[in-house]
Amino acid sequence: MNTHQKLERRELGKTCLNLSCVGFGASPLGKVFGDVSEEESIATITQAFNLGINFFDTSPYYGATLSEKVLGKCLKALGAPRDQYIVATKCGRYAEGFDFSAERVTRSIDESLERLQLDYVDILQCHDIEFGSLDQIVNETIPALQKIKESGKTRFIGITGLPLEIYTYVLDRVPPGTIDVVLSYCHYCINDSTLEDLLPYLKSKGVGVINASPLSMGLHTENGPPEWHPASTEIKAACKAAADYCKKNGKNISKLALQYSLSNKDISTTLVGMNSVRQVEENVAAALELEAEGKDEKTFAEIENILKPIKNQTWPSGIQQT
Ligand code: NAD
Repeated sequence: MNTHQKLERRELGKTCLNLSCVGFGASPLGKVFGDVSEEESIATITQAFNLGINFFDTSPYYGATLSEKVLGKCLKALGAPRDQYIVATKCGRYAEGFDFSAERVTRSIDESLERLQLDYVDILQCHDIEFGSLDQIVNETIPALQKIKESGKTRFIGITGLPLEIYTYVLDRVPPGTIDVVLSYCHYCINDSTLEDLLPYLKSKGVGVINASPLSMGLHTENGPPEWHPASTEIKAACKAAADYCKKNGKNISKLALQYSLSNKDISTTLVGMNSVRQVEENVAAALELEAEGKDEKTFAEIENILKPIKNQTWPSGIQQT
């Protein structure tokens, strides 16, 4: 890896936060993609930080609070000044179920801060709001998050979820500037780029855009997705064919998939779930290679052709673990 080259940073909407273009998705630290030891987690976070990743995203839901606890231990072990890294967590979705009430989310941030061993988080997001009443999110949850913001326990607030319509529904019903960021997942990857159409609207609302799951929660990996992956058999088969094509031609599907997501600069950061030093190094190298050499257009064209029959097909939100 060329250690002289720096991982690009991009501004997140109007927050003045400068996020590394590759963000660290910490759901794997909650063992949702398989076992990972505490030592490996600490080494992974440390290497991520040393290679220029400054954004770490978690949730109380990931591994039933395990991800937050492990991330807290890793950041403590890292020992970097608090203003050198950016932490996002979420509220409203828990292993026990959903609860977007003001009372629950207000308690939730205190519990998260304790597990993360932090005094504040940079971003607090309502997690997977399509499962709540969107009117409750607008009238009760967001006002509760604004109070949390005023208390200093979070610097910015946001919303996350799968169906893109949730963003326009909520953003059209809150005063401008209320919501700082949105986190969309699985909608800006090689098999589904539907987030692209929403980007001008989000920009007009002054909202920062976090894109998550560039590997479509494991669909774009040589080992394939986890058991719980909600995609249809047809989507899984097409993605496997694309991965097999890459393998046969000496290419890496995960690298290409990540490069696809990173190439749109209107997206501030792309969160990849990582659970090993090797994955961190590969993903940072993929970003640096993209910056230095651009995309491998020939292989992209082949992959896009293989994925054409399922392009922009999605699945019902619900059972995913991230
Ligand atoms: P992802 O698309 O990032 O895929 C993660 C999987 O890919 C894991 O199995 C990981 O081990 C593997 N992987 C990573 N780098 C690899 C590489 N170089 N080679 C091979 N395999 C590799 O999916 P994700 O983890 O769901 O998404 C990233 C993060 O985004 C999450 O951890 C979470 O922080 C966030 N997220 C949030 C929401 C939400 O708020 N609703 C939803 C999805 C994701």
